[in-house]
Amino acid sequence: MDTLLGRYQWIQQRIAESCKHAGRDPKEITLVAVSKRQSASDIAALHALGIQDMGENYVQEWRQKRDLLPQPTIRWHLIGALQSNKARWVAGQVALVHSIDTVRLIHAMGEKLQRSPGLTQECLVQVNTGREPQKSGCRPELLPVLLDAFASYPSLRCVGLMCLPPASDDPESSRSHFRLLRELLQDEAKRERPQVSLRVLSMGMSQDFSVALEEGATMIRIGTALFGNRS
Ligand SMILES: *Cc1c(COP(=O)(O)O)cnc(C)c1O
Repeated sequence: MDTLLGRYQWIQQRIAESCKHAGRDPKEITLVAVSKRQSASDIAALHALGIQDMGENYVQEWRQKRDLLPQPTIRWHLIGALQSNKARWVAGQVALVHSIDTVRLIHAMGEKLQRSPGLTQECLVQVNTGREPQKSGCRPELLPVLLDAFASYPSLRCVGLMCLPPASDDPESSRSHFRLLRELLQDEAKRERPQVSLRVLSMGMSQDFSVALEEGATMIRIGTALFGNRS
């Protein structure tokens, strides 16, 4: 059990159970292994077990890991807060950016891509569902403004939403946040916008991913339950 393989199998089982319970197909769920502060050798081992999606929080750390792990089949996700001045390091370089939360950041990403013909970038807008002052993510009422901003940048595409509920030991306390994110996606998906097609709900971590799957998550971000504790 206490090995990468054991933990991976345990999570796959939990995903299967939650999907069954919710009447969903496990094939529609993407597991993102959150590899921040985990060693390159553990990431390589998980990748060898079949996980392709790896989530990193910090631009600098991701760039180091990418250089250590050149496997073209790894899909890197940037899930941590992103400052506009770092956008140029990321735009067009990762499979998915989960943490777009200001119009300014959309402009920074879009402008970088305009100077780099051929590069495109898929993104999620992060919503601060708990309205926590210290946390990244846009306030829910600003979501339409952010989604509108993608129209200016043909190389950027917004494919969904992400949230990070307030920390808690009780997984049930995340449920209302997951539900809010799903409702926001359903509401905004009714409106046609250039460069926006909302289908991904990135929500749920080690503690609360079963609840997230019940509430419609299509992408879960799992760190410690997969890798063990971070260094
Ligand atoms: C660290 C982190 C995770 C994973 O957290 P665990 O509790 O280790 O599963 C998921 N999403 C984000 C944004 C994170 O920063």
